[in-house]
Amino acid sequence: MSTDLGLPPLATRPLRPYLPRSVAASEEGIPSVRLEGVVKRFGDFTAVRHLDLEVARGEFFTLLGPSGCGKTTTLRMVAGFDEPTEGRIRLDGADVSGLPAFKRPTNTVFQSYALFPHLSVERNVAFGLERRKVDKDELRRRVGEELERVGLSGEAKRKPRQLSGGQQQRVALARALVNRPAVLLLDEPLGALDLKLRKGLQVQLKQIQRDVGITFVYVTHDQEEALTMSDRVAVMNKGVIEQVEGPEDVYERPRTTFVAGFIGVSNLMPGQVVSANGNGADLKLDSGPTVHATDSRGIPAGERAHGVVRPEKLEIHQAVEPAPSGRASLEGTVQSSLYLGTATQMVVSLPGEVSLTVLVPNSDDAERRRLPGAGEAVRLAWMAEHMHLVREAEVSADGHNDPDHDDTAPARSAPNEEAVT
Ligand code: ATP
Repeated sequence: MSTDLGLPPLATRPLRPYLPRSVAASEEGIPSVRLEGVVKRFGDFTAVRHLDLEVARGEFFTLLGPSGCGKTTTLRMVAGFDEPTEGRIRLDGADVSGLPAFKRPTNTVFQSYALFPHLSVERNVAFGLERRKVDKDELRRRVGEELERVGLSGEAKRKPRQLSGGQQQRVALARALVNRPAVLLLDEPLGALDLKLRKGLQVQLKQIQRDVGITFVYVTHDQEEALTMSDRVAVMNKGVIEQVEGPEDVYERPRTTFVAGFIGVSNLMPGQVVSANGNGADLKLDSGPTVHATDSRGIPAGERAHGVVRPEKLEIHQAVEPAPSGRASLEGTVQSSLYLGTATQMVVSLPGEVSLTVLVPNSDDAERRRLPGAGEAVRLAWMAEHMHLVREAEVSADGHNDPDHDDTAPARSAPNEEAVT
């Protein structure tokens, strides 16, 4: 067992340019991965519903969503382990329908590292090249380079069991990269590791992706991981993508109540849009007051919507104090107050069974001690630019808008093709 945490530094010298294989003439502008109306059914159950998606070349793209939302199924169809029931998948412009996994310009890294226990680290990495009968000198050079890239040159002769979990996942990564895939598919690759190691590897994985410059399609249910590493994030819910945007947009401006809830604390205030124009919208809250949001996300007057304000954007004042000028405000009662170390998290209940979470940074001890406690009447205030509107989730939590939803879907059959691709 290695004594370090599996976080040796990555390659310290510049490696030769990484040239991925490509299925088509690499014309500028052709998406690396394109899904066109992709549907996947298992019997009566629809796991993926009509996905249209484009991933640009060199992009770090993440499919994010709760367990069972269809992200692994989507990845497996790109990899060629499953075929879509309807629709088409293109890789570098070429339709890959019917093409087996080993003929696609993709490689997959799984959560279970799927290394060969009886082979050394370097033989594990060399496996795909040996099968393709790559010239010995080239094989040695490429294996050496990939081990260097992931910071494991010193472990080449070891067996997987002599490595930490983080190191084993680096071997799996090197084994995938050595094949020069045009697209690397990663299915919760850090899921089995502890939090500290995961965070360190997130940074290194992103660095490796930048170095090699190839497309990464990454699957995770961990929103922080998705926000940290990705160029763009697709948030999935019950087989549907509810939002595809950059991490900041997804976090700051979720489009649906589902995304708002999944990405962070969902401070949702339901109401009806009473007016909307280029300067934003007025939302009449079900609890009474009308508040203004500068970002209406195109929701027209007359529609139901929710106002969202992030916990760190809410200010908390004594109820008797007026709202600072230029702020909207609502009165409520503190339900609970929790010391979290760097911040204090307070839950405030408002009329209409709405409760909002407020995060107050613990930068000043005296100020922290003055914070109101449970049962106290308070005023929550925020700037209009920090409130935006979201629609209801496209698919409600109880499957309401979801006629084909069937919770009796058969359990997934155990795939056995997940070794080396
Ligand atoms: P997780 O993170 O738990 O793997 P996920 O978002 O990746 O979740 P999928 O593995 O894509 O979800 O599964 C989506 C749905 O499809 C689930 O309800 C799952 O039970 C079902 N499913 C997946 N594969 C099969 C299969 N081979 N046969 C039947 N149902 C399947």
